[in-house]
Formats: sequence, structure tokens, C-alpha cells
Amino acid sequence: MSTKYIFVTGGVTSSLGKGIICASLGRLLVAQGLKVTIQKLDPYINVDPGTMNPYEHGEVYVTDDGAETDLDLGHYERFLDIKTSQSNNVTTGRIYYDVISKERQGAYLGKTVQVIPHITDEIQSHVLKLGQSGNYDVVIIEIGGTVGDIESLPYIEAVRQLRYNVGRQNTLSIHLTLVPYLAAAGELKTKPTQHSVKTLSESGLQPDILVCRTEQPLDETIRRKVAQFCNVDLEDVIESIDARSIYEVPLLMQEEGLDKRVIEKLKLETKEPNLDNWIGFVEAVCNPSGEINIALVGKYVEHHDSYKSIVEAFIHAGAVNDCKVNIRWIQSDILNRKNVAEELKDISGVLVAPGFGGRGIDGKLAAVEHARVNNIPFFGICLGMQCAVIEYARNVCGWEDSNSTEFNEDTEYPIIDIMHDQKDIENMGGTMRLGKYACKLDKSSKAYEAYGTENIEERHRHRYEVNNNLRYKLTENGMILAGMNPERDLVEIVEVPGHPWFVGVQFHPELKSTVNNPHQLFVDFVKASLKHAKSLKLYKPLKKTKAVADKS
Ligand code: GLN
Repeated sequence: MSTKYIFVTGGVTSSLGKGIICASLGRLLVAQGLKVTIQKLDPYINVDPGTMNPYEHGEVYVTDDGAETDLDLGHYERFLDIKTSQSNNVTTGRIYYDVISKERQGAYLGKTVQVIPHITDEIQSHVLKLGQSGNYDVVIIEIGGTVGDIESLPYIEAVRQLRYNVGRQNTLSIHLTLVPYLAAAGELKTKPTQHSVKTLSESGLQPDILVCRTEQPLDETIRRKVAQFCNVDLEDVIESIDARSIYEVPLLMQEEGLDKRVIEKLKLETKEPNLDNWIGFVEAVCNPSGEINIALVGKYVEHHDSYKSIVEAFIHAGAVNDCKVNIRWIQSDILNRKNVAEELKDISGVLVAPGFGGRGIDGKLAAVEHARVNNIPFFGICLGMQCAVIEYARNVCGWEDSNSTEFNEDTEYPIIDIMHDQKDIENMGGTMRLGKYACKLDKSSKAYEAYGTENIEERHRHRYEVNNNLRYKLTENGMILAGMNPERDLVEIVEVPGHPWFVGVQFHPELKSTVNNPHQLFVDFVKASLKHAKSLKLYKPLKKTKAVADKS
């Protein structure tokens, strides 16, 4: 069976959840025995999102091979249980970068280099690369942006050509669109969808399937209208109604027959779907026995997408622990030693988040201290771990001025310092310690208890690290270096003994939490927080709602 390509475009407006639709379709195909991957094409000129600030872009998702990518790749990994790589995310910036590099090398043999054919050819070669690897039955390609945007045009044209080149029977075009409900008219409106499909068709791409985002069910009349005016069969009009959780979307898409239509059209050989584990998970997410509050202390908390993978990892870990984790978003700038007890009064666990730059550091240190001194479960991730180390150096080891050289280059005790190999780097893009590195765990640690194995691998994105020349002071005062990178002797995990759960990690465990494999550290942190909540009567039991199977 040759590799099939499914292109997913979006119309009418952004934020319709294209990534979730792609991931949901991917999950349904995987559940039927197919090998699937998903690629995101982003129409912006940045080479990757690594240099963008979190308000612009949300979280930067890091893959095993150290690519800094779009957060949708996180959804792909979480839904499909696959590993993505640099090849799964391509931006206009990267396409132009590659074309211009080739032009400088003389690869175009004196030709005028143009959007068509050179840019469109380069886009096609990036798409085909995944298919030609021979590893996949299906490659789903999510085209970022909204149909009608100027910057999307080369992508649409590349898809048009690619459909022609690899044969229409090997490709499919799905268009995700909006059918808004106008309260004043009391009606669902199909006109925006008609216009969007018209625009797409003018670029030479007729959708085979329309997925219609809606707040109200689409009745037969509306479906017929959409089908007729947009030139698709009635059964190719798929309703995508607001779900209780993004994890319910694959089940809703299955009910609507999205996977069935795709399988029929592409003549895919499949086996009976197995979604038992998924259904059990959705059940656990939608019907928890109780809830707890965990504080997420960070600098970008007004913009929840900045911490996307952490939010999702809490959903996974909550399901394992049969409890809903309510994230209490705490802006680190407003926290200080005086108000921290009040601000964190009904929380059962504290997570200090990753980040860059000095703003809000004092608030983060206050949160660490509060959790450490009051035996509240604490989880520090990357910058959060560095804050835990600084707090310990200052308040336990007595190095009052201790700091990271990221925030104070002249500190007497630079307990966190720039990594040796980062010192002379001037370029900002793609130059941090990125991607997968090994870590060996101390067998007496909480981390070892959680992972249940000695050797682990986790993903990184940072320039600073625990200072190996000064770390003796931490261990002399009881802090445990619970995980070390064996090749370079770098501190990867710290713990405070005698505390119910105090773990700081230099890496990003949230990036590897999936529905089928919730991350062990998150599972254990939530477990410890739940115990804390129950002992202090902060745990709230919840009434069971209807089960997934009989939600009608
Ligand atoms: N700013 C810190 C560093 O570069 C932490 C980075 C992070 O939290 N991802 O080391």
C-alpha cells in the first residue's frame, strides 16, 4: 500500500482546533492498525517558533531530536503516542532558508528562483519526505493559517500540485470550517463555509470532506445545504460540536463517521478499531471522583497556551489518580514572602514553571520556600528547578546573595550558571541545550520511585544549569542530586529529603506525557498532592455525571 496523504486546511477563522481534528483523525486511524504521522506546515517567516515569545506563539514544543516546534506537535504525540521530529514541522521561514541556501550554492543552475516552482517544489519535498521514509501508511498534513490568507497561497498551490503528482487516489483534502449560530436569528449560518470553500476551490483545491465546527447540532437541512453548495456528498459533511474535553473529540468524530469516510475514500486496509483504553481515559477525565487545586506559578499565566503540555500532563495524571486537577494560575510578579501564604491558601501542590528572564523570580522563590517549609508537594520544572536550587542555596545553605547568572551576573554565589558550551554562542535560534538527553537516577530518590527504572531520557530546553563548582554546598546541606546526566555530569534532578514530595527537574517531563503513557512524575506529584489535600480537608468530592457511553 503506498503512503496516503491527507491535507487539512482551515477556513473562516483561526482557532477552530485544526490540530485537535488532525490528532483525533490520526488516533482513529492508529486504533484501526494504521501507521500514521502528522506534519504541521506553518506559514510564518520565522525559521521555527524557538525565538518567539510565549505571548506570540504559546508553548514551544521540543522533540526528541531537539527541534523547537509548534505546540500542535504536542497534540499529535499525546493523541497518537508517536514521536515527532524536525521533519514534522515546516515553516515558510525554513522553506525560504533552504531555497536561498541552495541558490547560494548554485543549485538552480542559473535559473530565476521563484515562488512557483521553487518554493512550491520545496514544500512538496518536505511533505513527501515523511511519506517516502516508508514508515507510514498515512501522513496527515495540517496547513496552518486560514484559507484566503496571502501567506497560505504557496501551500495550497503546493498541495494542488502534489495531489496531481502522487495521484488523487492517494490524497484527500479535508476542510475544517465554522458554521456559526446567530442567536438573534436563532439559526445556524452556512454562508461563511460556502465562501471559504469557494476561496479554496478558486485556488484549485476542492475539499473531499468538510468538518464543520458548531455550537449547535447540524440538522439534516443544514447538512444538505452545506453539501449542495460546497459540492460534497451529504455523508462528507461532518459535525464537530463543542466537546467536554479535547480527548472526547476522537469519539465524536468516530460517531460522525469521519474515519469511515477517510478509510473508504483512500481504500485503506484496516482492522476493527480498538479504543477501549481511550474510552476509559475519557471516562476518567469527564467523571472524576473529586478535585484538588494545584498552583501553577509562572510569568506568562494570562496566556495558558504558554504551558500547554503542563496543562495536558495534569489532565493525564488526574485521570490516573481519579481526580480533577484545577490549575490555579498564579502570576509570579505579584507573589512575595508576605502574601504567598494567602495566595496559596487552599492549594495542595505547587508547580513552579519553566521560563526565561528575571521578571517574577522573587515570587517564584517565595512560592518554593512556602512549599518547602510547609511540606506542600512541590514540582519545579526547568527554571522552576533552578529557582528551587537558588532558594535552597539562600535559605538553607546561607548563601544569601546566591542567584543564577541569568538574573545577576555579579552574584557572589552563582549556583546556577550558563553552561560552558553556551558562553560564546551569539545566535538565538536553535542554540540552547535542546532535545533528548540521558539521566541516571539515584535509587533512593522519589524520582526513581516514580519512574521505576534507573536510566531515563528526557527533553531539554535551557542555557543555564546547576554550577558544578558550587553544588557541594547543596549536598552538604542535605539536598539530593537525584538524577545526573552521565556523559557530562550535569545535575538533572534535585530533591529535598524528609519532605512529602519536593522534586525539581532541569528537563521538561510534560513534553512526554501522553494519554496512553501519562508521565510518571506528574502522576506521582498529583498523587502526593491528593494525599496532602485529603489530610488537610482540601479535597472536594464530585458528583458523577453521565458516562461517555450514554451521554445522549
Ligand atoms: N532560563 C532558564 C535557562 O535558560 C530556564 C529555561 C526554561 O525554563 N526552559 O536555563
